[in-house]
This record gives sequence, structure tokens and C-alpha cells, in this order.
Amino acid sequence: MEGDLITWFPAPSDTAAFVASVRSSLEGRVGDVVPIEWDWRPDQDWLHEWRAGLGPRRVGRIVVTPTWCEPELDPGEVAVVIDPQMAFGTGEHASTRGALRLLQQFVRSGDTALDLGTGSGLLAIAAALLGAGSVLAVDNDGNALVNARGNVLQNGCAASIILDEVTVDATWLGSVEICDLVLANILSGVLVPLLPAMREALRPGGRAILAGMLSEEAADVRAAIPGAGFRELESDVEDGWWSVALEAIS
Ligand code: SAH
Repeated sequence: MEGDLITWFPAPSDTAAFVASVRSSLEGRVGDVVPIEWDWRPDQDWLHEWRAGLGPRRVGRIVVTPTWCEPELDPGEVAVVIDPQMAFGTGEHASTRGALRLLQQFVRSGDTALDLGTGSGLLAIAAALLGAGSVLAVDNDGNALVNARGNVLQNGCAASIILDEVTVDATWLGSVEICDLVLANILSGVLVPLLPAMREALRPGGRAILAGMLSEEAADVRAAIPGAGFRELESDVEDGWWSVALEAIS
């Protein structure tokens, strides 16, 4: 693979050992020599700097809006106001945008929905604002849920979104009420083994919108779709991130 990766780490206690361990784990994955250059950078408030660079993001008719912005909305546009914190789901990642595009196409008025790995709550809030009747939004990261709770309140969705701290697995999916729509932007390694359990959580004709997968993983995911009781409705690619909308077949 070509290209550079630039990243930052907190100061390690033993720098030489840290660089050596990064090198050996990267080279172990890549199977080749990985050149590494490093230097020190001053400690800065990254969260503040990153927040300052954000602005409204249009994804179809959804306008993902940081709390301090007030974009003019065109007719039919729906603002989802997000306080960008450390939780994933600010609209800055292509997998979130893929899920948002498919959601707009496949959410139905009154849908009961599950949002698996809600992060900032963005997909759950978008679903509710686009007409879903109720959403159970879960995450296994308690900090994400604090952010999600604030965002749910900010968007006036507290009546239709329930948040819960849950580690999603097949057993938990087997315990939920049957619903119309599943949203999940998690990695394919998590999603694919859960496909049959997601199917069980959906009524026939219900839909699953899955994101967080790479284009090169699409073939393997597609191979698992029919056996899990789904058919593909639509897919979406942005920046190499592949998202797919599925229908639960009876
Ligand atoms: N839905 C948001 C966030 C996606 S990031 C968006 O589309 O932008 C994925 C989220 O899933 C993270 O917040 C992570 O904590 C959570 N997550 C990953 N595996 C999980 C699991 N097994 N159970 C619950 N949450 C999980």
C-alpha cells in the first residue's frame, strides 16, 4: 500500500521502546519494512483546535451542524445538531455519511429502530427527525453515551430515543423487541458475524443499514448476506468506505 500516515501519541515513558514496538507491530501487519520518522510536538488542546475547524456538513437533506453554527436550511433540509466531542459520529467520517445517505432513502415513517454503536447519537437522531417512531440506541462506551444524551436533548428527541449502555452481541440482539430498522456503523469484523442475529431482530421486510466496511471487504460481506436472510437493496461508497442497505426476507 502507498501513502503516509501522520499520527500523534502521548509522550511514552521509554521513547525508543515505544517506537520499536510501533515498528514491529506495523511491520508484522504489513509484512514489509515500514519507514518511521518521529519528532516531538508541543502539547496543544487538540479537541479545541479540531472543534474550531468544523462547520455544517450537508449529507443529502441532512445538515450535520455543530452546536455553535446556525446554517440557513433549504426547504426539505433537516438539521441534526451535534456537539462534537470524542465520540464517533460528527459527520466527518465517510462511513457515517454513507449510513446517513442510505438512512434517508430507507427510513419509513413510524419505524421502530435499533442503532447499534450509536457514538454521538447522530444516526439515531437523524432517524427520529426523519420520522422513525422510536429508536433504541446503544453503545458500549459510557463516554459516548454522555455525548449522545446531550445531543438527543439538543435535538428535542428525548421522547423517541432511548439510550442504553450495552455491548451488542447475538444474545443481546436475541432479547430485543422485533423492529423495522437496524442501523450499525461498526467494523465488518463485528457486523458480519451479527448478521443472522440482526435478521432475527427484524420483521420480514424490515431493513438494515450497515456501514464501517471497506470497499475491498464488500465481496465477503455480500457473500454472507443471503445466508443470513437478507437481500441487498442499495450500496454506497465514499473514500473507500462501503455501506449497504439490506432487506430482511421472510
Ligand atoms: N453511529 C455513529 C458511531 C459509529 S462508531 C456513526 O455512525 O457515526 C462505532 C461505535 O460503536 C463506537 O461508539 C463504539 O463504541 C461502538 N461499538 C463498537 N462495538 C460495539 C459493540 N459490540 N457494542 C456496542 N457498541 C459498540
